[in-house]
Amino acid sequence: MTASTTPITPDSVGDRALVFRGATILTLDDSGTVLDDADLLVVGERIEAVGPQLAVPDGTIEIDARGGIVMPGMIDTHRHMWQTAMRGYGADWTLTQYFVWYYLEHGKIFRPEDVYAGNILGALEALDAGVTTTADWSHGLITPQHADAAIDALEDTPGRFVFGYGNLHAGPWEWATSPEFKDLHARRLHGKGDMLGFQIAFDVTGDKDFPEKAAFEVARELGAPVTTHAGVWGATSDEGIHLMHDHGFMTPETVYVHSASLEHDSYQRIAATGGSVSVATESEQSAGQGYPPTWVLRAHDIPVSLSMDTSVWWSADLFSAMRSTLGADRSRMHLEAHAQEETVTHSHLRAEHVVRWATRGGSQALGLDHAVGSLEPGKKADVVLIKNDRSPAMFPILNPYGHVAFQAQRADVHTVLVNGRVVKSEHELVGVDLDKARRAVDESVEYLRSTLGEDAWQQGMNPDIPESTVLDNPYTYTDHRDASTHDRVGDQV
Ligand SMILES: [Zn+2]
Repeated sequence: MTASTTPITPDSVGDRALVFRGATILTLDDSGTVLDDADLLVVGERIEAVGPQLAVPDGTIEIDARGGIVMPGMIDTHRHMWQTAMRGYGADWTLTQYFVWYYLEHGKIFRPEDVYAGNILGALEALDAGVTTTADWSHGLITPQHADAAIDALEDTPGRFVFGYGNLHAGPWEWATSPEFKDLHARRLHGKGDMLGFQIAFDVTGDKDFPEKAAFEVARELGAPVTTHAGVWGATSDEGIHLMHDHGFMTPETVYVHSASLEHDSYQRIAATGGSVSVATESEQSAGQGYPPTWVLRAHDIPVSLSMDTSVWWSADLFSAMRSTLGADRSRMHLEAHAQEETVTHSHLRAEHVVRWATRGGSQALGLDHAVGSLEPGKKADVVLIKNDRSPAMFPILNPYGHVAFQAQRADVHTVLVNGRVVKSEHELVGVDLDKARRAVDESVEYLRSTLGEDAWQQGMNPDIPESTVLDNPYTYTDHRDASTHDRVGDQV
């Protein structure tokens, strides 16, 4: 057994090669190759070789990956990173409370430094969880200064990002056509290669006049993909899909987020035009966009990627996404069968499918499949080692896809490389400034809380609970809960 558990750092690695030794490797290549007791060699930014007992250059740093799983870095295709400083605040929200809080009441008070704080925390959190690429759905960009701050944070972090420019406080036909927007694109985003991609992020309301057309035209002119919340109950509907389709704006690089409450005809239009859907199951289950749609997307053969949406409500790691997506899809299959007095005897959706959605699904959706998403020689080295010798949940590893989807957690993420650079080693983030992020977030929370005032702050976090009634029960003739204090949970220990 290896004795050393000292983290390696970008400085200690220098320009030496890295090799993971003795792992179960999920390559996620086109044929789904899984290798046992195999090695993965990284030279510079790229994967040099994958296979058993690789010969390596002199000076190569060896990472003992025995007992672990090496897989491609995970890819989150829809994340409002600017909201991360409010982590957990909206745990009990519905979409209605979210809209009231951000769109109507408080979204406008976010300053550029608040966007920076959220983004830097979200970026580090993603790396820690083995998410090496995040599509930052940045729709709080009230001014170009906010956008500069958001991009600063992404560039201050050694992750791979796709920046989705948006502004929920104005129409996309206003901001996307402004000279400031084009200037920002030229200044900060154009030609950044595969480390910083670009999307335009806005929703289509279904207004018959289709004012969003102007923003689609800008996207076409810039060659930028559009990402859009579609099929969100009460917000975006089939009307938006029809308008996009009728005007020729449904393209293969378009990412439709949620798409949880559309009609059959709209799913057919998405499928026929080659777009993909970013499914955020934890979000859809809790906020109310519609039932998590993988079961219906599979029926229409629509490509799927996974996303976490926002850590204002939920966790922000794709282990949760894989787990909840398997659960929601299988729940639906059982429910539909039971309604027909039938029994599901074999599950269609497998652990392997959700691991693929969390990796290749993302690289394909974001136009990055030439660079990342699988572990193949020549691709950029975005690599995750899941291994935790101190965890009773990390052995035996019998079914590696099942282990990733249902057993592993972010604390089991042992090593993470992005573009060949080590960002996490021995379960610790390395070469990043977590304290700087903490200071930025503390300052941001202090500002937001004091600006709202304590009453509004508490009210926003604790929405009213609607009245509910407990059904009459004919078997109840004495109330066993009545008066007798020893029956109370709190008195039992
Ligand atoms: Zn969203």
